[in-house]
Amino acid sequence: MWRDFGACRAEAVLGDLTLQRVDAIVNAANTTLLGGGGVDGAIHRAGGPAILAACRLLNGCETGDAKFTTGGNLPARYVIHTVGPIYRDGTHGEPELLARCHRRSLRLAQELGLKSIAFPAISCGVYGYPVPAAARIAIGEVRHVLEEGSSIEIVRFVLFSQDVYDSYSRALEE
Ligand code: ADP
Repeated sequence: MWRDFGACRAEAVLGDLTLQRVDAIVNAANTTLLGGGGVDGAIHRAGGPAILAACRLLNGCETGDAKFTTGGNLPARYVIHTVGPIYRDGTHGEPELLARCHRRSLRLAQELGLKSIAFPAISCGVYGYPVPAAARIAIGEVRHVLEEGSSIEIVRFVLFSQDVYDSYSRALEE
């Protein structure tokens, strides 16, 4: 499933983020940036110790913010680490923080002069964000940033399971 926003293509695919041949993949990290489970663990396993070594120099990352490191042994040149909100009930700033993760990651990619970036379903794993709502926020914010003007040509959402893929595809169609 894909859709063009201005000069940029946004797409949803079912797959493994760590295998993506893009300029940067986005990590759904935690505030320590020192590794975790889920997609974070998969990125560190696939990318090797250079990523953790670079993360140690960053002094963590606030929820809603983004920082970058090398991609180590990954096909992607960079990892952009962002920290999604832990979902409580949706009234504790979760939508704004989730939107900000996507905005800050795209802006960072732009500052680095990148043309392609791949996101996982940030906050949709152990952080418990209801997937259809997270998908609408993620796609909506990406669209917003791209329509403001951007050098990025491809934004790919790489989803690990069919139900999550379906939610992101539906949000892309809306
Ligand atoms: P969070 O803590 O932000 O919720 P998680 O890593 O727990 O992050 O989950 C985010 C999403 O990433 C979930 O939908 C999970 O299934 C998915 N995921 C886990 N491993 C991978 C991977 N290798 N590629 C893409 N998505 C993945």
